[in-house]
Amino acid sequence: MILDYETILRKIIDKSGLSKTDVEAKIKEKQIQLQDLISKEGAAHIISNELGIKLFDETPQTLKINNIQVGLNSVNLSGKILNIYETRSFQKNNRSGNIGSLLIGDETGTIRIVIWDENLIKLIKEMKQGDIIKIMNGYSKQNNNGFKELHLGGKSQILINPEGEKIQEIKITQISSRKKIKDLNNPGFAEVFGTVVDIFEPKYYNSCPICSKKLFPELDKFKCQEHGITIPKKTPVLNIYFDDGTGNIRAVLFREQAEKLMNKKENLDELKKEARGKQLLLKGKVTKNEMFNRMELVVNNLEEPDPKEIIAELENQ
Ligand SMILES: [Zn+2]
Repeated sequence: MILDYETILRKIIDKSGLSKTDVEAKIKEKQIQLQDLISKEGAAHIISNELGIKLFDETPQTLKINNIQVGLNSVNLSGKILNIYETRSFQKNNRSGNIGSLLIGDETGTIRIVIWDENLIKLIKEMKQGDIIKIMNGYSKQNNNGFKELHLGGKSQILINPEGEKIQEIKITQISSRKKIKDLNNPGFAEVFGTVVDIFEPKYYNSCPICSKKLFPELDKFKCQEHGITIPKKTPVLNIYFDDGTGNIRAVLFREQAEKLMNKKENLDELKKEARGKQLLLKGKVTKNEMFNRMELVVNNLEEPDPKEIIAELENQ
């Protein structure tokens, strides 16, 4: 796009607050300085740069979810938060950090947002389901399940409920790795929607209150390799049988996930009363238990869908 001299002049005057005479003098001066090698327009461009004035509207186009291609940089996107997943920590090659993730949707689809930047991860606490977020400067990737994701790093930004942003009806396109229990034959990530059919006596272990890792007794104290001597937190592990009509699987729930389902009931009978028959969406890792030669689901996220979602799920089956 080429702007004519008058347009540039007007923009500089408007945005700098300088008078027309002053701006024109600066432009003339620049032309003289460059020995008339450039046009008036060219000199005006340089002046606007020097004054830090943007001549073009540089707001990149905000994309809709179904327009996102794999491999895009600086993606801007607005969407409604459909789900906030638990922030996970990772340790890899002496690097450690956290990964936050969300599912957002707009009128054209849904996409998972993967957040690497610690400041943005902190911001997740201020978000809730149904909030509209505006994302700036994300980059798109494809995950192992073949779905597109938008990743956010240090250059990315998130605005929560920015004024004027509206999302109409959400089009659900990507329930990611939703699987039927009968198909869980290979290790990997899976989401299963089904019913708790049985529950086993919860077991407890001592975990570090900071990093949640298992603690081992040392003399009469408990020590975390990373955090030293700490006061152990009694942490549950819960095994359940989970059935989705196509089959059943033993699911293992740790910590928060177990606590969510147990809802403060420790007695097995009470717990059975509480949890049996509950319809849940479990997400986690399918692993093979070699000892018993069976597949198990190690749950890292447990959700109780609201009734509307349950109906939609059942209609999809
Ligand atoms: Zn620790």
